[in-house]
Amino acid sequence: VLELRDVRCAFGDHEVLRGISLSVHRHEVVALIGASGSGKSTLLRTANLLEHIGDGQVLLAGEDISDPRVDADAVRARIGTVFQAYNLFPHLSVLDNVTLAARLVHNVPRARAEARALDLLASIGLGAKAKAFPDTLSGGQQQRVAIVRAIATEPELLLLDEITSALDPELVGEVLDLVRRLKDDGATILMATHEMAFAREVADRVVFLDQGRVCETGPAREVLGTPREPRTREFLSRVL
Ligand code: ATP
Ligand code: MG
Repeated sequence: VLELRDVRCAFGDHEVLRGISLSVHRHEVVALIGASGSGKSTLLRTANLLEHIGDGQVLLAGEDISDPRVDADAVRARIGTVFQAYNLFPHLSVLDNVTLAARLVHNVPRARAEARALDLLASIGLGAKAKAFPDTLSGGQQQRVAIVRAIATEPELLLLDEITSALDPELVGEVLDLVRRLKDDGATILMATHEMAFAREVADRVVFLDQGRVCETGPAREVLGTPREPRTREFLSRVL
C-alpha cells in the first residue's frame, strides 16, 4: 500500500531523513520505533505530504504521490491520520467530527455518514456521546473518537503518531484495544510508538530508526526480542 524509496527530508541544513526506504503491505501493521528526534513523525508526515521531501519517492498503492503534480488533498483523503493529541475540532460535536470528512471531502450524504458514524461510536462504547463536545470527554475517549474519525472514510492506510503518549496510563489500554481491533479488521497501519510491548504484540514488522536512517527492520518479535544491530540493542535497553 505504501512504499518509501530513498526518501530524504531536511529542515535547513539539518537532514532529518537520510535515505529512508520502507514498505507497508496491505493488512500489515508496521511499528516505527526510535529515539526522540530520530525522524519518526517527520517520516509519517512525508507519507501524507505534510512535509516536503528533498529527494526520493513516496508511493501510495503504486502511484508516485511525491510527484509535485499530484493533488495533495486527494491523496490525504485516502489516508487516515491520528496524532499524539489535539486531534478533534473543539467547536464540533463528536458526531460532526466523525462525519465531517465523509460529508465534505467524500460527498457522502449526511444521513448515511451519520448512520455509519453512530455505528462506529457504538462499537467503541461512545454512542451516547455523539452530541457531546470533545472537551467533555476523557483523553482516552477523545483519542478513540479521533481514530474512529480517521477510519470513517475507510482510508487505504492509517498513520498513527504516538497516539497514547499524551494519555494518563490508565487510559492507554482502551486506545490500544481499539488499534488491536482495527488490525483484526484488516486495517493497514504505520504507527510510531513508544509502547514496545504493544508493538511486539500487534505489529507484524518493526522498523527501528536511528538518526534518520533505517537501522534495523524485521518481524516484531525478532527486532524487539533478539535485535541484531548494536544500536537497536542499546535503544531497547534504555526503553524496556
Ligand atoms: P519524538 O519521539 O520526540 O516524537 P521523532 O522521532 O518523531 O521524535 P521528529 O519529530 O521527526 O522526531 O524530528 C526529527 C528531527 O527533525 C528533530 O531533530 C526535530 O528537531 C527536527 N524537526 C522536526 N520538525 C521540524 C521543523 N518543522 N523545523 C525544523 N526542524 C524540525
Ligand atoms: Mg514524533
